[in-house]
Amino acid sequence: MKEKFLPFALPLIEEDEKREVLEVLESGWITTGPKVKQFEQAFASFIGCKHAIAVNSCTAALHLALDAIGLKEGNEVITTPITFAATAEVIRYFKAKPVFVDIDPETFNIDVKKLETKIKELSKLKAIIPVHFAGQPCNMDSIMKIATDYELGVIEDAAHAFPVKYNGRMIGTIGDITCFSFYATKTITTGEGGMITTENDAWAERMRIMSLHGISKDAWNRYSAEGSWYYEVIDAGYKYNLTDIAAAIGVAQLRKANLMRERRKKIASMYNEAFKPLPEIVTPAVKAGVEHAWHLYIIKLNLEMLTIDRNQFIEELKNRGIGASVHFIPLHIHPYYRDTYGYKPEDFPVAYQTYKRIISLPIYPKMTDGDVGRVAESVNDVVKRFRR
Ligand SMILES: *Cc1c(COP(=O)(O)O)cnc(C)c1O
Repeated sequence: MKEKFLPFALPLIEEDEKREVLEVLESGWITTGPKVKQFEQAFASFIGCKHAIAVNSCTAALHLALDAIGLKEGNEVITTPITFAATAEVIRYFKAKPVFVDIDPETFNIDVKKLETKIKELSKLKAIIPVHFAGQPCNMDSIMKIATDYELGVIEDAAHAFPVKYNGRMIGTIGDITCFSFYATKTITTGEGGMITTENDAWAERMRIMSLHGISKDAWNRYSAEGSWYYEVIDAGYKYNLTDIAAAIGVAQLRKANLMRERRKKIASMYNEAFKPLPEIVTPAVKAGVEHAWHLYIIKLNLEMLTIDRNQFIEELKNRGIGASVHFIPLHIHPYYRDTYGYKPEDFPVAYQTYKRIISLPIYPKMTDGDVGRVAESVNDVVKRFRR
């Protein structure tokens, strides 16, 4: 009997999400309102931060964060090439320049040794956007020290890193501003959505205002009984607000965020165990002192020991009913960045060589132990079949 295809990612949507959404739908207030406020307050207390601002994506969050720290045309911002398009495109929104620093070969996070070397070459550098890749926090102690030494802003792309601690501190309380994603595949979801956290009052106010047309009062104040009709537009803002419908899903997801993280962690350890006997497979390296959110579980192929390449490996998994993916195609080899800045693949050799060898396997709370076993067996089967 042919088994059902196991998708690469699935959200965990249960009765409590449905109930929360239904309540909002029946309340008469479906856009930004009391549910968003509730979600923001619950998120802030979960993280232990002063401000949490809900927006409609992590991309919007990153954009607002760069606006808040005053990024200008011609400035430079450092990030890594192994990230999603969003991290670099927001820099381009300002006609500023994304400057890539290669990744650490073990964690695939920004290489902090190369970071400082690169900073010394730049004259218009304004900020660093570390990406907590796959859910493993970057070396924040080094990054914050470098940022202080060179007077740079730190905007964390924590799209993969909720909820996790770095050396005992929650991600969302370390850098100047932290941006989270609630996209459908992320560790908690609102369908589409994001959250910004910061300790800085002025930045928080600026991001709140710019998230809704540069208006100095939000819609809830304007239209509720106690609000007034009067508002002022203080800048040309954006339309980045989250709806109460989405926030309702978020409120329910937040309540089980730790449980879902535990499940992801369990799946990761089952995979680690299963792949231990396979020298062809390098399992994820987790640094001491950090928690891993396990948004992604990425294996690296020892291609020298196999007769097939990464793409064929993914095809073989698909033939066995397993969905897999690649995170990420390095930004510098995409046509836009390649042609705008004249990059060659080998300009960031670790990112490029890593890219050719990585496969993201399914890892999500909805997976049963049987599903995990099927994935592990399929990987095992492909390795044995195509071993050199
Ligand atoms: C998903 C993702 C984003 C963008 O998140 P959205 O909420 O979809 O805008 C940004 N950075 C990284 C690393 C991501 O994986």
